[in-house]
Amino acid sequence: MKHETDNTMIAELQTPQDQSRQFAVDVRGLQKQFGVGSAAVTALANIDVAIAENEFFTLLGPSGCGKTTLLRLIAGFDFPTDGQILLHGDDIALLPPFKRPINTVFQNYALFAHMTVAQNIGFGLKMLGTPKAEIADRVAEMLRLVQMENLKDRQTSQLSGGQQQRVALARALAPRPKVLLLDEPLSALDYKLRKDMQIELKRLQSQTGITFVFVTHDQEEALTMSDRIAVMSKGAILQVGTPNEIYNQPATRFVADFIGESNFLPAVVDAVAENTAQVTLAAGAGLQASVTAPPMVGSGVTVVVRPEHATLHEIPEPGDIAVTVTNAVFFGTDTHYHTELADGSPFVVREQNAVGATTRFVAGQKVGLSVTQGAARILRD
Ligand code: ATP
Repeated sequence: MKHETDNTMIAELQTPQDQSRQFAVDVRGLQKQFGVGSAAVTALANIDVAIAENEFFTLLGPSGCGKTTLLRLIAGFDFPTDGQILLHGDDIALLPPFKRPINTVFQNYALFAHMTVAQNIGFGLKMLGTPKAEIADRVAEMLRLVQMENLKDRQTSQLSGGQQQRVALARALAPRPKVLLLDEPLSALDYKLRKDMQIELKRLQSQTGITFVFVTHDQEEALTMSDRIAVMSKGAILQVGTPNEIYNQPATRFVADFIGESNFLPAVVDAVAENTAQVTLAAGAGLQASVTAPPMVGSGVTVVVRPEHATLHEIPEPGDIAVTVTNAVFFGTDTHYHTELADGSPFVVREQNAVGATTRFVAGQKVGLSVTQGAARILRD
């Protein structure tokens, strides 16, 4: 008890700047407008986000949501209309990019084609006036880190896309920045290489301990690599959380739709208890759903269910929702059954395939659908 009181007192004695020092990047009330008058575009509405030291933090959202703008403001390539960007508690708003202890890896790598791998990696250090012997040591360390020692004398124009990406990473990490910004760095790579580089990036981040701020529109990339994710839409951050929180407890309908797949069913609320609501689906069936903010009895809501949280029964069981299978799509690891409720609402059920499993249902078949206990949710729009 005493311990708690002490902590509260310390927190009260700290200035906002002291509190901000614990964060690698602390963004407060950040706004960015492009253009003026009727041509004005609000790229960032009012962003507040604190990124911890050593964190792999991802900005995730659809094209045009403002991710790159936020990254560019942190890097110093552009200036905010309003708000603050604190780096370990210090306001860096007026520092030019090269004075910020921050580096950026771009989608197109931006390597120097006429230089070797080693020269590229050492370039930033040379610009900083680092002594030659130290540059050589650091370049050797970086080559080891990205496992490219055997290619150190190769011109970068003679490297594969994946190898070029490693050089770009090594070059950005060489000056040991406090924060590394990564703007969709894997999007030019093919699927398999992208998967390998995802694991590689995570390894580099934990091995170097540098804070990574990663921008992507690819939810799978965000889920597999990040410590925390900020989901963005239309210049605002809708939710910040661990991949698990974002996937399993999406705060809004947009987040549930953007991260993973979801089924959305229109319904009317019959009764509300503490954290659950009893609803009647437009298709007529009853269902219990968890709620974060209790809805009004009689109000119209949307119930959200993940495709892996439902099961189809050939012979409907008591309490099942009647559905008709419209399509079965085999994906190797699992099969997706597209179904339709009595009111025409579509509902996809994902079933994991056992060894040698064959497709269980065919289009036109009438079956029962049950939703896993606790899996249905009512979300804010
Ligand atoms: P993408 O994934 O397509 O790169 P994004 O989420 O990174 O998208 P931003 O590039 O940050 O989005 O753009 C946010 C909004 O600001 C968009 O509406 C965009 O058109 C606008 N915008 C960005 N840069 C400028 C600029 N220099 N002048 C005018 N509008 C801009």
